[in-house]
Amino acid sequence: MLAGKVVAVTGAGRGVGREIALLCARHGASVVVNDLGGSGTGDGADAEPARRTVEDILAAGGRAHANLASVADPRGAASIIEAAVQQFGRIDAVINNAGILRDAIWHRMSQEDWRAVIDVHLHGSFNVSKAATPYFREQRSGSFIHFTSTSGLIGNIGQANYSAAKLAIVGLSQSIALDMARAGVRSNCIAPFAWSRMTGSIPVETEDQKRRVERLKSMSADKVAPLVVYLASDASKEVTNQVFAVRKNEISLFCKPRPLRSMTKLEGWTPEAIAAELIPSFSPSFARADEVSAHVFPYDPI
Ligand code: NAD
Repeated sequence: MLAGKVVAVTGAGRGVGREIALLCARHGASVVVNDLGGSGTGDGADAEPARRTVEDILAAGGRAHANLASVADPRGAASIIEAAVQQFGRIDAVINNAGILRDAIWHRMSQEDWRAVIDVHLHGSFNVSKAATPYFREQRSGSFIHFTSTSGLIGNIGQANYSAAKLAIVGLSQSIALDMARAGVRSNCIAPFAWSRMTGSIPVETEDQKRRVERLKSMSADKVAPLVVYLASDASKEVTNQVFAVRKNEISLFCKPRPLRSMTKLEGWTPEAIAAELIPSFSPSFARADEVSAHVFPYDPI
């Protein structure tokens, strides 16, 4: 699927990103394996995770190059794309997968936790995408694959920073898809469900949380990679501006927000009329106030 292509995968030292890098290489791509190698909350750095993924690709007869930059640093992000061009001569797909978590209930969320998560996820996706754009425009092709989350698409407790970043990434992807369509460049998002270091930090105190984590443990990170390979390939030439989700062997397509109910009052709305007429008509269609992804995906994937 990817013979002759060059892809850059951020956060490819562990979890979902590592599986994507391995499968891209198996499908013939040359892979820039980016990973800062920090802790789950984004502290520190370690060359080992990226090095291990590169070694495994080389051992299987593939082509790979390690890059240890942080995507949150614009110069570091640019070095990922430069590495692709210098080592392998071009760049065909950017997979914005790197991520950290700094979960905290809203009233305890600090400025630092907010900034760190927005920096890696949102600014990181912007930085790497921006660096690849001149190459994509020049060659009149390219595929951006960004990682979002049901925490952003649906909502989650204790993740205001992460949810905001992940939904903003959908906005980024949609605008890139619209702006770059005339240059033949595509942009899509994937919301994965996978057992990884990231999901390993989910608290398991209540029975509900225990059940959720048991479910997640059965969803292995490698299940996300086939969709990425497809979206990076020419087989998906017509696919852009979409949001997918992957849970084990199940792949879903998300709809974009659309008006669910509308009501017009010819003389204009007053607050009283909104309370008396509009809300009674709308409230049967309200999303539940405590909605999280378990309500939208109430069954186990196979
Ligand atoms: P993970 O923690 O296993 O791997 C993330 C990798 O990103 C790590 O190896 C880490 O070192 C790297 N990284 C972190 N900050 C970086 C930076 N600044 N620059 C470069 N590399 C950096 O996580 P994962 O579960 O594999 O998650 C991958 C992506 O999928 C993330 O974007 C995450 O938000 C998203 N996601 C995962 C799940 C899930 O169930 N695992 C659910 C929804 C979304």
